Amino acid sequence: MCHRGSLNGRGPRNLRKRSSISSGPLHGWRPDGPCRRTQPAAVMCSETCFPGEGGSLLLQAWLFRTPGLWTQNAFSGAPSSVWEPTGLFSLSVPVRSRRGMDVAFMAKMSPECGNPLEEWTLRKTGSPCGPDSLAPFHLQRLRAAIERAGRTSPFYRKLLASFPPLFPRSLEEYGRLPFTCPGDIAEDPMEFLAVPQDTVARIVTARTSGTSGNPKRVFFSGGDLSDTTDMFSEGMRNLAGDGSKVMIILPGKRPESVGDLLVQSLRAGSVPLLCPFSGEGPVLKKIDEERPDCLVGPPSWVISLARHPLGKAGKCLSSVLLCSDFIPESLELGIKSSWGCSVYRHYGMTETGYGGALSCSLGPGMHLMEGSFYFEIVHPETGDPVPEGGEGEIIVTPLLLEGTPLLRYRTGDRGMIIPGKCPCGSSLRRMKVRGRYSNGLDLPGGILPLADLDETLFSLPWLGGYEVRREHDSFALTVKGYPLPGERADVYTLRNETERKLAFLPQLNGSLPEITILLHPDGEQHILPAKRIVYSS
Ligand SMILES: [Zn+2]
Repeated sequence: MCHRGSLNGRGPRNLRKRSSISSGPLHGWRPDGPCRRTQPAAVMCSETCFPGEGGSLLLQAWLFRTPGLWTQNAFSGAPSSVWEPTGLFSLSVPVRSRRGMDVAFMAKMSPECGNPLEEWTLRKTGSPCGPDSLAPFHLQRLRAAIERAGRTSPFYRKLLASFPPLFPRSLEEYGRLPFTCPGDIAEDPMEFLAVPQDTVARIVTARTSGTSGNPKRVFFSGGDLSDTTDMFSEGMRNLAGDGSKVMIILPGKRPESVGDLLVQSLRAGSVPLLCPFSGEGPVLKKIDEERPDCLVGPPSWVISLARHPLGKAGKCLSSVLLCSDFIPESLELGIKSSWGCSVYRHYGMTETGYGGALSCSLGPGMHLMEGSFYFEIVHPETGDPVPEGGEGEIIVTPLLLEGTPLLRYRTGDRGMIIPGKCPCGSSLRRMKVRGRYSNGLDLPGGILPLADLDETLFSLPWLGGYEVRREHDSFALTVKGYPLPGERADVYTLRNETERKLAFLPQLNGSLPEITILLHPDGEQHILPAKRIVYSS
């Protein structure tokens, strides 16, 4: 049964009225909780569909907000003329009855309506969040970071010896400082150590990309770890309100590991469930038992859960945070369509204390954590700055790291700054990440970036993961298939579908790879959900 326009024509006041008279469980939403503070939005519903008792409700709605009013309750008395339509989006929420709809609907909307990162950045910088207004803050913090690194780190003492004391006088001048490369840390991590050894709280060994790179050792002080938990805590405000159950499928056994830091960062009242990935079956069983509100994990693991035959257990989730790897858009859409939840994206790396950028779920790209980092996009060969909207290598300077300070660090990641304001209304700059420069297959038709292969393969709605084996000037592909119910599920059909998708990649020059399809449940026994390139010897 489909009801059209049940809320059509109702303004913010009416929505507020309806939500205030609703009763029943307020899943993930409290009238007096922090969400109320970040509610500068309302929805005007264009269509509502009721699939039936216990099903899912799909709403397509225009989001309206009053720019800049993060801390005001915009539901109260704002004249309708200041409400701006900012974007069309859809969401799916559980619904038990028609009466329960508004409650559930508001519950879903509230965490998405504000952007706590903007508020956090304002607190840290004292400046509004536009790039121009943050320039004085960044210049001052970069000077402090340079002074500290030059005084405490042997590597930077040598590097900065030829620069004048007041360097840099501008952000443009900062662009003259040589880059720091991952290989520099791998070669001699002790040259970077900038705190006394007995104050190092944690040492992390991170892999250097490529098969031959030495691992990098990165040192964190107690202050660094505390900054990370602070950052995680602010980021999670977007996803999980008080009382939320958050399942974390990240490594977390060791104290101060990334999973453990995330557990520490969750505010009192949240329930963290650390569940390191041990295969789709056990994790989905745990989700079914615990019914978490939010799931945090790497994209390739989460999609393999969402598309698994038992994946419907994840329909209890309100939000998912993808992290630790490149996030293809097709994969993100696959999770949304399987679970009907909000999907957030995080960008960061071990060397930056895991921080960098976080999406708001409304717009493309991820909002930069400008209070803790200074980002540049440069041409990967010339090192020249790339203007906003252009693609280049992401260069990051963490402004606060003490243990292993880094100045103009080459991430090896391909990205761009998205021009303009986000549909959420925030002026915080947004960055789109397009994978790693080094992750590509050298084929007769040119380099095929793994990011492009990801986008192509994850657009197959039954694909749960894949592995690539490099073979001379071609490659072999092993694909894990979770056929959709009611669809033809034989290996021959799925291979044909895969070949049709791959045929659009120009680098293949029409020469398709050897494709092996592993169908569930056999697939689980033979392949991990992570996408990998295995080079033949
Ligand atoms: Zn946004």
